[in-house]
Amino acid sequence: MDSVADPRTYDLDALRARILPEAEGTVDRSIPQLARADPDLVALALVTVDGVVNSSACADVELSIQSAVKPFLFALALEDTRGEALDQVGIEPTGEAFDAIKLESGTGRPPNPMVNAGALLTASLVYGEDVAARNERIHAGLSAFAGRELDVDEEIARNEHLLGDRNHALAHLMRSEGTLALGVDDTVAVYARACATMVDARDLALMGATLAAGGRNPVTGVNVVSAQVARDVISVMATCGVYDGSGRWMRQVGVPAKSGVSGTIVLSAPGSLGAAVVSPPLDDQGTSVRGHRASEILSEDLALHSFATSR
Ligand code: GLN
Repeated sequence: MDSVADPRTYDLDALRARILPEAEGTVDRSIPQLARADPDLVALALVTVDGVVNSSACADVELSIQSAVKPFLFALALEDTRGEALDQVGIEPTGEAFDAIKLESGTGRPPNPMVNAGALLTASLVYGEDVAARNERIHAGLSAFAGRELDVDEEIARNEHLLGDRNHALAHLMRSEGTLALGVDDTVAVYARACATMVDARDLALMGATLAAGGRNPVTGVNVVSAQVARDVISVMATCGVYDGSGRWMRQVGVPAKSGVSGTIVLSAPGSLGAAVVSPPLDDQGTSVRGHRASEILSEDLALHSFATSR
């Protein structure tokens, strides 16, 4: 077997140069700001659970987090409800697209927190007396995961809210099943604003590392969520994080991860590191093509695959 590289000194710029020529995939067009993304942007970062940060060129370029926010919304909902969020959202993979208009049969709950239905629900469970307070709690929580005060792009938030017809449909469906306590428009607004949180690859890697370190931010030392919550979130990322591509992802990369349509992917290797691979062109499942490829190589070089043995 080839020797295992050290994540602290691993050459992320060399990996970046290697995947840059990959030209497959298309940039998301759901809102104008995403359609304008630079298809040649590639950024990589990783943070070890003892707080060493390693990043490539462009790791400080910000983009909206999009669905890579979902594990963190789930984490905040679990934390704020003392685990009761697990009664209100399923944890089974759907084998369907992220915005499928479908709830769990029999219960009317969203199938899992990594698809839109589930993330709308977890956003509604984060504690806050009104929309503004809930937005503020989510903003503070995401910033704690990232170890710095994050910005929100209000124009992206507005467009996500206005143009998110399928998200409104999902929220209406959950209301009709009695599984969503908050109003439809407020729920979509809170979720849309969370998706419009601006992160760079380094932020996202540190967010993943905080989960991988059992909920304690390894750079700031702040306990963001409990170790039980971090474990629950990573478990669901492993089975549902890449939607209907989760099986292929687990076989090829073997590291729990969550993708977003801006081209973000956050990975959490428990007890080891968090990583982010960012590049806007997406495959049919809404996952960054270069990000997937880079994750495979990273997993191989750093021996991160959950199910590989050294035999
Ligand atoms: N903002 C997007 C939506 O809810 C996020 C989707 C995604 O990144 N997969 O529709």
